[in-house]
Amino acid sequence: MPQSADLIEIFDSFQGEGTLLGVRQLFLRFAGCNRNCIYCDTKKDPSDRGYSVEGLGSIHGVRFLPNPVSKTELLDVVKAMFSHCHHSISLTGGEPLLQANFLAEFLPDIAGLNIPVYLETNGTLPDELEEVLTYIDYIAMDIKLPSATGEKLDWNDTERFLKLSRSKQAMVKMVITGSTDLDEILMGAEMVSNISPETPLIIQPVTMIGKGYDPPDIEQIGEIHDRLSKFVRAVRVIPQVHRVLGAR
Ligand code: SF4
Repeated sequence: MPQSADLIEIFDSFQGEGTLLGVRQLFLRFAGCNRNCIYCDTKKDPSDRGYSVEGLGSIHGVRFLPNPVSKTELLDVVKAMFSHCHHSISLTGGEPLLQANFLAEFLPDIAGLNIPVYLETNGTLPDELEEVLTYIDYIAMDIKLPSATGEKLDWNDTERFLKLSRSKQAMVKMVITGSTDLDEILMGAEMVSNISPETPLIIQPVTMIGKGYDPPDIEQIGEIHDRLSKFVRAVRVIPQVHRVLGAR
């Protein structure tokens, strides 16, 4: 039986995180997440009106299309919106790999259109990644540090995920708050350094949106960067940038 997916939104914008900062992408935000990070600023449940479709900025207006969406319906939207100025489509969420069965049917058709695929993921679902890995070009995975997210992490799943990701153009991101445990940051960084030393490691200070936690100050960031630079080949400090542009 053909699979279908639940989406939150499709929109045109610029990548605001990581090493591909600034490339223009068509974002497909899938509904649902298997995590509950305290700093989450993302809508995870679809609205009753379906998923929204929006061009760059507000001048194009917003329209709503119904969930669940079939492979053919989604391909039609992507074909209509993807243009020469786009670098790739970004599968984001929530956690897009929760809908891996759908992606396994949808992504071969995207490959047929020669559209590169960028996966933004929390890095906790290696079985689901295996299901679609062939069709992914770029992987931006998180290491969800417990002292930043407020939740436990299965480090074995993260390690398996990272091992799978290194066959692609990958980057790893760790979001940190002012109270993130330095030992956890070092543990995540050692995992990257040991398993996939060429993979860039992004330290992303949490975006302050007033939920009762603080972003790290510049001295903390400097200390972390100093410690990681001793053994991680490519460590970068990159905050979220799309908000500066007034983009999504
Ligand atoms: S993994 Fe991402 S979408 Fe899910 S709760 Fe955490 S920040 Fe939100």
